[in-house]
Amino acid sequence: MEFTERKLEQCVIIGAGPAGYTAAIYASRAALHPLLLAGPQPGGQLMITNEVENFPGFPEGIMGPELMDLFRKQAERFGTRILYESVTEVDFSNPNCHLIKTDQGRTIETRTVIVCTGASAKWLGLESEQRLNGKGVSACAVCDGFFFRGQEVAVVGGGDTACEEAHYLSKLCTTVHMLVRSHKFRASKIMEQRVRNTPNIKIYMNTETLEILGQDSVEGVRVIHKDINQESVIPVKGFFVAIGHKPNTDFLKPWLRLDDNGYVVTKPDSTATDVPGVFVAGDAQDKVYRQAVTAAGTGCMAALEAERYLASVGH
Ligand code: NDP
Repeated sequence: MEFTERKLEQCVIIGAGPAGYTAAIYASRAALHPLLLAGPQPGGQLMITNEVENFPGFPEGIMGPELMDLFRKQAERFGTRILYESVTEVDFSNPNCHLIKTDQGRTIETRTVIVCTGASAKWLGLESEQRLNGKGVSACAVCDGFFFRGQEVAVVGGGDTACEEAHYLSKLCTTVHMLVRSHKFRASKIMEQRVRNTPNIKIYMNTETLEILGQDSVEGVRVIHKDINQESVIPVKGFFVAIGHKPNTDFLKPWLRLDDNGYVVTKPDSTATDVPGVFVAGDAQDKVYRQAVTAAGTGCMAALEAERYLASVGH
């Protein structure tokens, strides 16, 4: 849809993943005429996912990019205007008029903002990891674990995420090889105990990944056991990186309360922040569920809350 600028927007949505598009669908149907700033990776993390089999309504599954294209079309159908620009800076000092600056030199004024900038999985940074991404290398067990039913997989990391991923995979896979780079887990005790008590999770402490093996699919992983300074190859078909996520919230630091990991702190059972008219949905505020469907759910909440907020201040 062609972009027509307004002097003062009612609602600007930052980010075009499941949360952003869902907020846009609801906000446009509520006649808030939202402007969506699609950012550096329109579609979000689903653009780097192959098949999505857990999004309700698609019994045969759907490719991630195709699903996001449907989200976009649905938002546009109700009048959402989309600008393919990235936000560089915001200024939330005036509650009646929030400012948003983009990389194209534009300054947008708006009464409400819905931040849906998501999070990015952290990667090890190996060449083989990049090459085999989507071909056996994944950062989401819930999304991709199903493809490795009855096979052996590896999980890298020793935090709560890695424990959760390993535990999830242990129900599908014959053996989960858990590679922890240091001599101790970073995870909570209860999560650590859970993986330790799961018979088909094999834990390797002080073990680092050197290379993921395979040409067009994962065939194994070459690791170094640092205690004994010895390398070994573990034959696996899937390789799950679970070393944390980084929420894309750096630009919000001067204005919003972030927790120790950079997630925006929202009010309980709400997407509202401490700043009137500023709401946050999706993975930028969710470190627990991180699913497309939960992101969409909070995107819906944010649009409803923005609508109620505008009504409460007389717009
Ligand atoms: P964490 O930062 O807690 O843990 C990251 C893990 O990955 C650590 O074991 C770390 O090792 C390891 N790691 C980091 N970089 C590398 C690397 N390059 N190579 C190998 N290993 C590496 O991240 P999480 O995502 O696990 O958790 C983030 C937050 O989210 C935490 O507060 C956690 O409690 C929370 N969370 C809560 C959940 C829940 O409540 N259900 C579920 C998931 C997360 P090292 O210790 O050596 O640095």
